[in-house]
Amino acid sequence: QQQLIFNERPNGLPNASTFAMKEVEVGSPKQDQLLLKTLYISVDPYMRGRMADGPSYIAPFQIGEPLNGGVVGQVITSESDQFQQGDIVTGMLDFQEYHIVNADQVRKVNTFGLRPSVALGPLGMPGLTAYFGMMHIGEPKQGETVVISGAAGAVGQIAGQLAKKAGARVIGIVGSEEKAAYITETLGYDLAIQYKLGDVHEQLKQACPNGIDVYFENVGGEIGDAVWPLLNAFARIPVCGAISSYNLKEGERDIGVRVQTYLIKARAKMQGFLVGDYTEHFKEAYEELGKAIASGELKYQETIREGFESIPDAFIGLFTGENIGKQLVKVAEQ
Ligand code: NDP
Repeated sequence: QQQLIFNERPNGLPNASTFAMKEVEVGSPKQDQLLLKTLYISVDPYMRGRMADGPSYIAPFQIGEPLNGGVVGQVITSESDQFQQGDIVTGMLDFQEYHIVNADQVRKVNTFGLRPSVALGPLGMPGLTAYFGMMHIGEPKQGETVVISGAAGAVGQIAGQLAKKAGARVIGIVGSEEKAAYITETLGYDLAIQYKLGDVHEQLKQACPNGIDVYFENVGGEIGDAVWPLLNAFARIPVCGAISSYNLKEGERDIGVRVQTYLIKARAKMQGFLVGDYTEHFKEAYEELGKAIASGELKYQETIREGFESIPDAFIGLFTGENIGKQLVKVAEQ
């Protein structure tokens, strides 16, 4: 079977030589272990952070070692009384086609009758991130204006719908016309701003005559800078990510640090957060998201590449905007 190895630390945008394939043995499960077949692999922007060698909230990838991330798999053989053959499970696992895992390394997935890949998107880490960032930090209220950057992505597509549900007017910032159509026509956002079409600040000013009450930050850099002057008093800014700076080359400096004076002027709350801070609320969030997704109230999209060997391209595509909704790699049929 194939395993995807971290081959070289990228300087700037990752490329083919960042990755390497390796043939490894499958093995067989012992007591309390499972043999899993990988169905879906999640590629996520935070993995770029793990490619740099430095202290962070999650350990860096090591050269020559497998990449690792969100995986949905199916139990082929179970030597554990907690799982049965055929169960769909998820966990943070190495990127390979089969896995021998201890039973406590994975959890069963309730997909609410949907395709199991939802456990890596709206009903997984990105969905929870949107939920906690928006509902616990953004706290949108009836009639407020909410702006979301990266609005057509895995997190953004859920975050804005939650704000709509709370009665806010929602404006999404996206990188293409297709994404603009997706967020307005399918997701019901009130307006889309295409940042590649020019002056984002001017476009936002037109779009937000009453200012901005919540800015869900996924991108940072110049897009964040376009938002700050429009913040209303007591605005909230869940700082979820800053993808525009993830591929800076050595020596390049992040921009977007001019926010402070505006925060003071608006007495705004800007709070960094990690989805992992909210583990005690996961259960209620899963319930709420699961019901809303199963009933069709919350919509979502997936961009799926086929085949284990397409993981590098799927990952790199996150930084060139190739995905609508959650980017996944389908490795095998259920
Ligand atoms: P997405 O599905 O949104 O994929 C990334 C998208 O970002 C691309 O499709 C592209 O869309 C946009 N993008 C890429 N590069 C740039 C750029 N230079 N400038 C502007 N937009 C860019 O990813 P996720 O939804 O998984 O993640 C979104 C953000 O949330 C990331 O910053 C990520 O790090 C963060 N995150 C944080 C978590 C936390 O716990 N704090 C957990 C999960 C994610 P477009 O075509 O619109 O440019």
